[in-house]
Amino acid sequence: MRRGLCSAFRLAAGAGATGLALALALLWPSPAGAWECHDLVTDRALQTPAEKAVSGQQVEVESLESFLEAEGSGLAGEIAAYYDWLDLHGVPGRHVRRSCDPATPTRAELLAALRLNPATKVPYVLRLLPSEPRADHVLPLKDVSAYLKPHPPLQKDFVAAPPGSMLSVGEILRTYSDEPDWGMDRDLWSHPEYGYGTEPYGKSMGVSSQAAFHMKFVHEPWLVRTFVPKLADGMPLERIDLFTRLARFAFRTGHAYWGWRFGAWALHYVQDLAQPYHTRAFPGAGVGYYLRYILSFHKAAMQARATQLVENRHFLYEDFAAYTLQKSYVEDAKPYADLARCLSSSGPGLPADDPSAMASAVMALSAAHAPALSAAVVKAFGPHLTEDPSYDVETAPDYHINEVMRAVPAAEERALLAETCRDFRTAGEATRAMIALLTAPPAGG
Ligand SMILES: [Zn+2]
Repeated sequence: MRRGLCSAFRLAAGAGATGLALALALLWPSPAGAWECHDLVTDRALQTPAEKAVSGQQVEVESLESFLEAEGSGLAGEIAAYYDWLDLHGVPGRHVRRSCDPATPTRAELLAALRLNPATKVPYVLRLLPSEPRADHVLPLKDVSAYLKPHPPLQKDFVAAPPGSMLSVGEILRTYSDEPDWGMDRDLWSHPEYGYGTEPYGKSMGVSSQAAFHMKFVHEPWLVRTFVPKLADGMPLERIDLFTRLARFAFRTGHAYWGWRFGAWALHYVQDLAQPYHTRAFPGAGVGYYLRYILSFHKAAMQARATQLVENRHFLYEDFAAYTLQKSYVEDAKPYADLARCLSSSGPGLPADDPSAMASAVMALSAAHAPALSAAVVKAFGPHLTEDPSYDVETAPDYHINEVMRAVPAAEERALLAETCRDFRTAGEATRAMIALLTAPPAGG
């Protein structure tokens, strides 16, 4: 064993850092969703007495234009302070300073200053819970976002909630904690003026182009950290800082709706980091795997296999979590109710005074859980879905969530529910920590 390791180290050294880095980089999967059900995760996390007192408050919907017109100059200063923070704490080499017209910035100018997709829609909507009666005025998904697609039996029903209407804080948080998956982080690599550089992982276009804003891999084996440092170049912490900053600014200036909506965006990334497939590039693979890879004469085949397998497991876990959590709203069955309670029961304890420290603690928890979760996913769904690289869960015409979930053996379902509970505890605790951050009085105040 020891001799083998030494030989491998020599081979690694001899492989050439650039070639090896490129080869390893190709291993990484690129789906960019984390939870298919941010709305339900948020809703369940708010079912504690303290959060209910906040989430029941009513807020009037305010248009973005009205907010910008009233607070343009203060907002420009806040954006400048964000870039100051990025200079010190951002991933090096991945930003250029942008600014906002301090007089009356337009929506387009704001998106450009924040370096978001210029086509971001910012719709005024409310997402219905699965337990709520289906309204007859449900919006076509394309009116919410061109990127939202039906994924039955997972429910995606939205109704209009235009400026001037009233929403509860809980409704704003649950609806918009999903919004960063509606396109704002897509296709940003084609905007050199934003200074993001080239994608560290994921793809340059499409849903996977948002991967680097929703995933971050800082808990990889040393070999990977050494040869693929770009895996640590994910920018969810930058997004969390930006949107927490904007939310606090909106609260300070009396725009509660935008305070909660920006806060919901920050919440999205924190919840993403509670998903182990977003904090470990290939859960279950240790140093031994990578050494075998380095020694292999079939690297391309190993890359393709690993990428497809981890994508499949990632999608299966997302679907399982969303499917079972949705069930908790419509079926009176103990396992689903128990799972829902994981989101509102107290979790591991997180720092609640600094967004980056909190997000880093969440990343450490989910990364540590990744191997156990991955093993439970493989056991629950079996070799065809999790060990066969010729099968693609995302596109296979015979993949139907209902049938796949019903086929999971009872014991394996219980085991996977227990592992999901662990991630949900982290996600629930992170949700409440973020709300504490948003509502805390300003430092020194
Ligand atoms: Zn996401």
